[in-house]
Amino acid sequence: MKEIGHFINGKEVKGTSGRTAEIFNPATGEVQATVALASKSELDRAVTLAEEAQFKWASTNPQRRARVLMKFIELLHANMDKLAETLSSEHGKTIPDAKGDVIRGLEVAEFCLGAPHLLKGDFTDSAGPGIDMYSMRQPIGVAAGITPFNFPAMIPMWKFCPAIAAGNAFILKPSERDPSVPMMLAKLMIEAGLPEGILQVVNGDKESVDAILDNPTIGALGFVGSTPIAEYIYSRGCSNGKRVQCFGGAKNHMIIMPDADLEQAADALVGAGYGAAGERCMAISVAVPVGQETADRLIEKLIPRVEALKIGPFTGGDDVDLGPVVTKAAQQRILGLVDQGVNDGAKLKVDGRGFQMQGYENGFFVGACLFDNVTPDMEIYKQEIFGPVLSTVRTNSYEEALNLAMSNEYGNGTSIFTRDGDAARDFANRINIGMVGINVPIPVPLAYHTFGGWKKSAFGDLNQHGPDSFRFYTRTKTITSRWPTGIKDGANFSIPTME
Ligand code: NAD
Repeated sequence: MKEIGHFINGKEVKGTSGRTAEIFNPATGEVQATVALASKSELDRAVTLAEEAQFKWASTNPQRRARVLMKFIELLHANMDKLAETLSSEHGKTIPDAKGDVIRGLEVAEFCLGAPHLLKGDFTDSAGPGIDMYSMRQPIGVAAGITPFNFPAMIPMWKFCPAIAAGNAFILKPSERDPSVPMMLAKLMIEAGLPEGILQVVNGDKESVDAILDNPTIGALGFVGSTPIAEYIYSRGCSNGKRVQCFGGAKNHMIIMPDADLEQAADALVGAGYGAAGERCMAISVAVPVGQETADRLIEKLIPRVEALKIGPFTGGDDVDLGPVVTKAAQQRILGLVDQGVNDGAKLKVDGRGFQMQGYENGFFVGACLFDNVTPDMEIYKQEIFGPVLSTVRTNSYEEALNLAMSNEYGNGTSIFTRDGDAARDFANRINIGMVGINVPIPVPLAYHTFGGWKKSAFGDLNQHGPDSFRFYTRTKTITSRWPTGIKDGANFSIPTME
């Protein structure tokens, strides 16, 4: 059986903790590999080696650092099929979706090619007599990233590309459920010319995460995952004096106005609700039609679309719409929540609970489920299901729909479908959610904008990728210098002013 270790100083090494986790193929339910779970001492050692390598890397000019990413991008394209296949075999998503996972990360690497420009400082000539003032962005030193299972290529790249381009060394702690692609990415970075020690992949669970949180050398830490863990990491990391940004869970609402093109809205809902088996932080999990007539027409259009969804393994060909969920525990949890929704009185219009994939009876498949008449007090509304389950909450007015999304504790993404520009503009201005789509169901910003939610979907004040990422992984230093030195104005005991 394949044993996945850690990636330290340019090569894969075996774990020494004696602890491992099993890696499943979600389509078959079989264990296909094990991954080492690092101890505190293994994590601390990786950090020490990273720290030793970092100074030289930070003194390499930013253009040369960017060139490593340029080569890395080429290698990602050259290895796309292998990356996607490996990703799908551990995650379960379809091959086209796995390629999208790689590409959305690659686009951030492309953005980071602008590092020389993004790291430029400011200069004020003659700020005082013989005085010049300039500020520059310097790397933090050693930064770390803790990432979730659902985007094992994209999110690690969102973290390490800007951090490394800015001159940091980086410790990546990927999800223990699908660690192979992060390991491949680290190998490709070395092949692209990255010096050893600048990108260390330490596999593990809570023990290695706690070691990251308590390691005094790690100055900045980015996390993506569920909200309870995000809250824990944010508070422990901050109290240890680190710069921390944590991106958490979501419950994304799509508001469908009476004037919307309902064919378009229904297509958007099935793609955004069931793609990747609903395991996306930007998945739409709540449909909010405005008006009973809109709701009736929408449900009528959704039912045949949801029933027609093709579920299968990633090897099932191009017409598979969604694969299994990631683990048996996730499958059982989702099915349990669907049962609870039925018991709570929601109307299950499409019931995927009995779905069996022929030839893959032990796979972690969940059939697509569609609920109508969900109310905000129900568990299926309150919890992030993270599965192929779409809940419909009927509302009687635009204000009621807006308030529903506004009152939800999460604030990652949302969308409105309408032909009314006034409503769309009002929605975009008033909604307390970080990423908004107007007739766009999954409004994931592109690499040169920033990605981040509000409320319980994000903790910390800077977003991922875009210009914020270079701000997060650097510190500003401002230098005030006086040349020539010959100016003699004696001792001054007041705060310096330019008066
Ligand atoms: P998770 O919170 O279970 O795990 C995320 C990371 O935290 C993993 O690396 C894991 O090893 C680690 N971890 C898990 N339990 C821990 C603990 N008790 N102490 C310390 N570390 C721990 O999340 P997941 O199931 O891998 O991913 C799905 C979640 O991620 C969903 O909630 C989804 O919405 C969220 N997500 C959010 C975004 C975003 O940008 N907001 C993007 C993708 C996924």
